[in-house]
Amino acid sequence: MSTTLASARPLDVLGDFPAIPEGWAYLDTAATAQKPRPVIDAIMRGYAETYATVHRGVYQRSADMTLAFEASRRRVAQFIGAPSPDEIVFVRGATEGINLVAHSWGNSLKPGDRILLSTLEHHSNIVPWQLLRDRNGIEIDVAPLTGDGRIDLDAVQAMLTPAHKLVALAHVSNVLGSVLDARHAAELAHAVGAKLLLDGCQAVPRLPVDVRSLGCDFYVFSGHKLYGPTGIGVLWARGEILEAMPPWHGGGAMIDRVTFEKTTYAPPPARFEAGTPHVVGVIGLHAAIDYVESIGLDMIYVHERALVKLTREALSTLNSVRLFGPEDSAGIVSFAVEGVHPHDIGTILDEEQVAIRAGHHCAQPLMEHLGVPATARASFGVYNGESDVAALVRGLERVARIFG
Ligand code: PMP
Repeated sequence: MSTTLASARPLDVLGDFPAIPEGWAYLDTAATAQKPRPVIDAIMRGYAETYATVHRGVYQRSADMTLAFEASRRRVAQFIGAPSPDEIVFVRGATEGINLVAHSWGNSLKPGDRILLSTLEHHSNIVPWQLLRDRNGIEIDVAPLTGDGRIDLDAVQAMLTPAHKLVALAHVSNVLGSVLDARHAAELAHAVGAKLLLDGCQAVPRLPVDVRSLGCDFYVFSGHKLYGPTGIGVLWARGEILEAMPPWHGGGAMIDRVTFEKTTYAPPPARFEAGTPHVVGVIGLHAAIDYVESIGLDMIYVHERALVKLTREALSTLNSVRLFGPEDSAGIVSFAVEGVHPHDIGTILDEEQVAIRAGHHCAQPLMEHLGVPATARASFGVYNGESDVAALVRGLERVARIFG
């Protein structure tokens, strides 16, 4: 996909986002995306008009809600190229999806088995594996990064051994925006008999994702970063893997038959969806997918790449700004200003109506690797345009004036 500066013009969808007032540059979409009207309307309708529980009621309203709920599952499957909706497990978010895999699939791992992660992982793709290490005595290896902040796949290849059962990597880094060559990572993992889990939190809102062509085995993402509701996310796993996985939460909806002597479990995905689900969250997620697809993920990718290019060019002309990550980052630019703490940058930018994120971005090992306690991060969404980049640059010029 080529990037042109012309595509940094707004996608003309700002009017769809009632929570973005005029003049406010919202540059924190990597943390969470603002919600477009169709998503808000779908949530409103879900509670104000069509609300009922799913999978249980014998009355029409519940049957209708069940149809809508399962239609969303089919929509998710189609959206990420999953062969079957039965491979789509609704979870609270990417964090829960990874914990589910670590608890259920991961529980069969034994001392001597190894998992490979990378230096740039979000804590939610580190800590669940450390908890598994503490429970099952496995080992964790950490792949290094290239100089420009990508996962070094040559190093991954050199590190992998038949003892590795899983490679778990971010498809797009939430700090650097670097895009993984996921297909290559899948080949490397499979060559030693390991599975590949992709943390797709930052990828799904920014580029077209097709799990079949990526060749991965697990894929997770969160609805709220995809312009959908909080509290809903997706775990996809290959059907035969999911089929063999034991449940991790017990309760209603995940069973086949319960007696005090023995309980048998429902097939996937129900086996992994204990309790009353986030019904309206699932409905809102469907609306979010319809929304982003009405724009087109390839368009969104090109648009955000163009905004990144503009931002990197503008920031590199400012003295004392250090840019992190690769030139061709997908919609995310992390930076530091010499002698100024990122929190001070964030506070001054806020006075200028520019919202960025400052902190470790739940990636402390990456901060250590970069040699900084924190970074400032501007991340883009469909509603951003050149004027937001200009506001960021004006704000940073003020930061420079204040700090001399
Ligand atoms: N992975 C990545 C790359 C992320 O950016 C995030 C959210 N910042 C997560 C995982 C966790 O997502 P959530 O908090 O929605 O579960």
